[in-house]
Amino acid sequence: MNAKIEKEADRVFSIYIRNLNSVNGICTCITCKRTFPISEIDNGHFCKRGNHATRYEEDNCRPQCIECNRGTENKDKKFREELIKIKGLERVEELERLSRSVCKISDSEGKEIINEFKIKLRELLKERLSK
Ligand SMILES: [Zn+2]
Repeated sequence: MNAKIEKEADRVFSIYIRNLNSVNGICTCITCKRTFPISEIDNGHFCKRGNHATRYEEDNCRPQCIECNRGTENKDKKFREELIKIKGLERVEELERLSRSVCKISDSEGKEIINEFKIKLRELLKERLSK
């Protein structure tokens, strides 16, 4: 997919992941457990974003603070431990396997990803409002 589609897919997916894992607009960083408003936290990837096969996998991503996500200290081990607690070792190993597979996302697939997560976000917000 071209850079423009990829940027938009990342943006929509990130908003969805942060909303999905928020309580009353607040997210907890998966690796340091500090809390931040949705708008002030990143969408952290366990298997890094360069691995396209897992770039838009919901289970691979959790809110992560800017310091943990972009800082110099490597938080990969902690991220893995926390993800195992949530999803189980089997799923984490599955993500690791998947991340190593070659995956090229076409422009039309990229647009489908954007649509998919826009719909999911809309449904999620609607569901939260009705509660
Ligand atoms: Zn953090």
